This record gives sequence, structure tokens and C-alpha cells, in this order.
Amino acid sequence: MGAFLLDAYQDWYCPNCGLEDRTRPQPPNASRYHSCSGLHGLNAPLIRAGVRCKVTAEERQDYLGTEIQARGDDGRQYMAVRTTTDDHDDLLVFAGLARAELR
Ligand SMILES: [Zn+2]
Repeated sequence: MGAFLLDAYQDWYCPNCGLEDRTRPQPPNASRYHSCSGLHGLNAPLIRAGVRCKVTAEERQDYLGTEIQARGDDGRQYMAVRTTTDDHDDLLVFAGLARAELR
């Protein structure tokens, strides 16, 4: 009887730009991110292979004022990237940045 060689790995993919990655197994709550060319260049999660979901960018709706907000490569302000799976949503929020001046 032969020995089994286990080479465990985790495959990841992006439903928007098609990027694929393979890593060593990760803990269940681990996440991987990339700058997504299919989602306005925003920082977006990679999805574990086999998980069906939708990843969308959420545009900021309120008035920006003097805050600095993440912008996509289309120049629009995005406040979050939402990952929608069959049973829950994950939200990656881009907080507005404060600006300070040092003298
Ligand atoms: Zn992507």
C-alpha cells in the first residue's frame, strides 16, 4: 500500500477581475486582499474557491466636506466593498481620513 502525500492548499479567486491565487491552508476567518482592476482599483477581498458570492463597490452617498475618501480609478468616492454570499454580507469599509498639519 502506497503512502499518501498530502499537499494541502487553498485556492482563491476574484469574481470581478479573475485573479486567482493559491496559498497554504488558512484559518477559517483569514482574508486575502488585492487591488482589484475589475472594481475600480479598490482594495477588495479574494474569495475562497467554491464560495459563490458577489463583490460590489458601494459609492459614498453623503457630502464629503473636507474628509479624504478612498477613490476608485473612475474618480468616484467609495466607502466600502461589500461581499454578498448566500447567507451573509461582509463589508470592507474605507473610513474617511482626517487631515492634520504639523508646524
Ligand atoms: Zn479582483
